[in-house]
Order: sequence, then structure tokens, then C-alpha cells
Amino acid sequence: MEQKTIQIAGSITVDELSKALGLSVTELIGTLFKNGIVATINQRLDFETASIIIDELGLKNVKLEKKNTSTKTSDYRRELSDKATVRPPVVAVMGHVDHGKTTLLDTLLHKKTVEKEAGGITQHISAYQLKHNDRLITFLDTPGHEAFAAIRQHGAMLTDIVVIVVAADDGVKPQTVEAINFAKSANAKIIVAINKIDREGADIQRTMADLSQHGLQPEEWGGDIVMVPISAKQNQNLDKLLDMILLTADIEELKADIDIPAEGLVIESHMEVGKGSVVNLLVTGGELKTGEFVVAGSTYGKVRTMLDWKGKPKGKATPSTPVTITGFKDLPNFGDRFIEAKDEKTARKMALLNAQAAADESADANVTSSDLLRMMNVADNTKTFNVIVKGDVLGSVTSVVDSLRLIDTKGEITLNIVSTGVGDINENDVYMAADENTIIYGFNISVPINISKMAARDGVKIRTFRVIYELLDDAKHEMENLLDAEIVEEDKGELKVLGVFRTEKTSIIAGGEVLKGDVKPTYLARVIRDKKYLGEAEVTSVQKEKMDVDNLVAGETGGLALSTKSKIELQIGDRLQFFTREAKKRTL
Ligand code: GDP
Repeated sequence: MEQKTIQIAGSITVDELSKALGLSVTELIGTLFKNGIVATINQRLDFETASIIIDELGLKNVKLEKKNTSTKTSDYRRELSDKATVRPPVVAVMGHVDHGKTTLLDTLLHKKTVEKEAGGITQHISAYQLKHNDRLITFLDTPGHEAFAAIRQHGAMLTDIVVIVVAADDGVKPQTVEAINFAKSANAKIIVAINKIDREGADIQRTMADLSQHGLQPEEWGGDIVMVPISAKQNQNLDKLLDMILLTADIEELKADIDIPAEGLVIESHMEVGKGSVVNLLVTGGELKTGEFVVAGSTYGKVRTMLDWKGKPKGKATPSTPVTITGFKDLPNFGDRFIEAKDEKTARKMALLNAQAAADESADANVTSSDLLRMMNVADNTKTFNVIVKGDVLGSVTSVVDSLRLIDTKGEITLNIVSTGVGDINENDVYMAADENTIIYGFNISVPINISKMAARDGVKIRTFRVIYELLDDAKHEMENLLDAEIVEEDKGELKVLGVFRTEKTSIIAGGEVLKGDVKPTYLARVIRDKKYLGEAEVTSVQKEKMDVDNLVAGETGGLALSTKSKIELQIGDRLQFFTREAKKRTL
């Protein structure tokens, strides 16, 4: 048999893979479906999924190979020239909720933000810098809740060093593991801060043992992970932690080129009245100056103002520096790369090209899983859940949308994001929602009174939230309401027909002996003759010795009145199997 090698650069679409394998798309999708993956024709499969599917298809002559192309991570960890100079490390603080990430950053930066957050969760990624031993360290404040996985992933990609905060009285928890995985996938160095050592119940040794169970071997036990016991709240040992960050940075020889066009990543963006787009950038190479032209995704602009993270004007930003700029014509997306363009014309052209590329991509992605199910001739019971998502900043809109997409709808509900946007809910959103039977979700924004009146008039549901998982719970609940109810039947008893007093088209009166269980009015009955099912009837009354009774139980004989639509002519010797039928609301 001819040996075939398929190279996969990161991922491959279902369409590409089916062509490469010489299979029909339908067959491939069918196999994916059998493995619990509802895929669309343009869905990208990662290397592992593709391997599993090829194995599943029994294609022994096909070999998959990982093609090495630059990933997003290495995109901005570019090849350095000899002239590259030392830059500050970019550090992300991650860990399980409540283990003390915010407190750590607060104590380090001597500022209080803990109380300000809704639900105690850091909602937006932002960046700070501090000086230690006369050297700068850049901190990314990555969001805390797992719902922000998408954002955190971007954060991790920028990151040189991940400080994983683990509470010494709580140990390794799901988000600790998630943080470890992120750090690994981002090729970042890990430093563990074992926090809350001031607490009773803090057990550093046990926490270290816990961590080593999860693949992080402490240096003092001969491993390669620096672990620093700290108290973020009482400012204990934080200098040591910062020393370790700088030491790690030195070992990693973190450098960047300065004499290249400025480049970096968009880490936050929102609109402000009077200022237009306000965009937080992290410079990763070159020097960004006011007056220069920049492109990010499909938008561009001239850097009008540039502020450092404390809000002080800054004329130029060097690598690893977070800055806030104004001047972009539109809001770039969180996670977009930005680069400097030599003039306005070039900037506009680059933005246009990016926009076209994005449009091509989304045109491809328009085949939904329900379209495909239809193609596969599988009964299509999928329902569509329409939403409009509005939020205060682009980062939160992105996370809400990403998190909504992560809700497991068991393939029965298609999420349709009708539109998204930054800013208050407006008339247009309500019009759009009314047409489409759509729910409008607002995150960290309020609803102007005229808009809520308008929505009430048009029967449009608007829901606003400040905590993402409350929003997700609501969405899940709404999706559950769309699911068809589950029909649950429960067997109750059986009766042998001993006499038939009347058997007409729709009503039956008969007598018999209850063989097992019981019989009550409202029970349903399957009529069985010689093991064959004849039809269904409903018990309307039960009698014993000519008196109406609540029920008859096993061993008793009595009479029954039944109503039926099955046109059954009941005979002596027939069996009635009693059962109840309930429509149960389903959950996701
Ligand atoms: P985050 O969710 O990881 O950002 O956690 P927070 O920083 O909000 O901290 C959660 C709770 O733990 C807060 O009540 C903090 O005051 C408390 N906390 C954080 N660090 C310490 C610490 O070192 N010692 C003690 N005793 N409490 C801490």
C-alpha cells in the first residue's frame, strides 16, 4: 500500500484533511461525530485529534507529521540580531481563584484594587511595571476566573515568566494546574510563590509535595523550579520573589531589538468619549513614539497620545513597556499584533489587507455544525440560541463570547452571535434583537432607561452582569429552556384482564387482577396481547367492589375505566402494563 505523509502545521481543517486522505467530508465528519466531536467542514483539528481520527479510520498507510512553522508565540519572540539589548522580563501572575494573585500585585505595587472588583475577580488584563534593584519588571495582570481561559492564553503567550501563586493552606487546585499548563504551552519559565504562609494551616512542605505531583519539582529537592514561600498580605519575602524573577530573567537572557519598526501586542482596548479609541499595548520590539503610524488587525492610526501605566505621558516606549495610546481609527482586537508602518498610506494598505484576510477566514467559518448535520442526513434537532453581546471594553466582550462558545450544548444548540460591540446597549441592538428573538447580554455596562423601556415594549430580553460566570449561568439556563424535554416513563404495575364489560372506540370498562405494582387513575396502560403491543389507554377510574377507590394493589381484583385513542377491542387474557409518563426539563 502506498505510504502517505500529511504535514500539519499547527492544525488542519476538516476539508483539507478529507482531501489529503481522499475521503469524503461527510465520512470524516461522521467519524469525528462518532468520537464525540461535532465538526464543521472548516473546523480546524489539532494534530492530536487528526491522529486519533486517522487511527480510528484504520488508515495504517497514513503518517502525520508536524510541520514546523512559526506559531503565534514565536511570532513575536523573533530572531534577534547581534545588536539586541536587554529588556525587562514580562511576568504573569496566575493561580487559583482566591490564592492571592491580586493581593500580591497590590502589595507589590502598593495600590489597592482588590475591593473594586466585581465578584473579586480581575476582569481585564492590564499591565504594570515596577522597579527592583534599579531594574524594571513588567507584570501582566491576567484575569482570574477560568472563564477567561481565552484571555489568559493570550496573556501567557506574551509572558516570559509565570509566577504561579499557590495558597499554602489550600494546595494545588484546578486553576493552578491550568496555570502550569499555560506556562508550559507558552514556553514561559515558572516560579512558584507559595502564598499565605502567615496563615494557620499553611503547610509549605505539603504544598511543595503537591506541586511535585503535578510536575513541578522544587529546586531545594533537586528539581528545577524555584519556589518562594511568601505572604502577599504581610509583605513577607516579596523581595526574594522579585530577586528570583530578575535572576530568571538573567538566565534567560531576555533581549529585544531596538532598531526595528516597533511591534507588540494589543492587551486592552475600549472607546472613551472625547478620546476615541484607547488602546493598551505591550511593546515587544523596536521603540514606539508618538506621531508614528501603527497597524493592528484591520485598523490603523497615528499615535496621538501615549501614556505609561500610571497615566504619565511618555514620548517613547521600549520593549516590555506597557503603554496606553490613542489614535487608532477603530478598536483593534485584544491579542492583535501591532506593528509600526512607515507612513499613513502603508498603514492603511496593511490594515485593508488584514481586513480582507479576516473576512476570507470568517466566510469560511460560516458553515455551522447544524448545516453539516443536515448534510449528513442526521435528524436536525438543533435549536439556535441568538445573542447580542455588549461590554465595557473589547477584552470583556471577547471573553464573554469565547466563554459562551465553551458552553457544552451537547450538539443540540447552535450559538448564534448576532452581533457584538463595545459600549452601552442602544436602539439598534434592541431592533436587531426583536427581529431575531435574541437575548442581549451586557457585561459591565448599564442600560439607559429609554432603552430598557423600548426593550420591554418590544419584548426583548436584556440581561446585564458584572461577573462573567453569572452571565454564563444565565445563558446556560436560557439554552436549557430551548432543549426539548426528555420523556421519562416509569413502570408502575401490571393487570391481567379477567372480564370485559364494555369496549368501544374510545372507552373501555374491564375487570381484572393486579399481578404486580398498583393501578391508579391517571396511570397510562400499554395493552399487550400475546406479547404484542396493541395500543395505549389512560386509566380514568379504579373500582373495588363497585366503589371508586384510589388504587388497587398487587393481588387485588377490581374494575377499571380507561379512555383510549387506539381503537382497541380489549379481550379477556390481555395484559395491561401501567406506567407514568413525564416530560422532564433537561439540563446542559
Ligand atoms: P486572587 O483571587 O488570587 O486574586 O486572590 P486575592 O488576592 O483576592 O486574595 C483572596 C483572599 O486571600 C483575600 O481575602 C486576601 O486578603 C487573602 N490573602 C491573599 N494573600 C494572603 C496572604 O498572604 N495571607 C493571608 N492571610 N491572606 C491572604
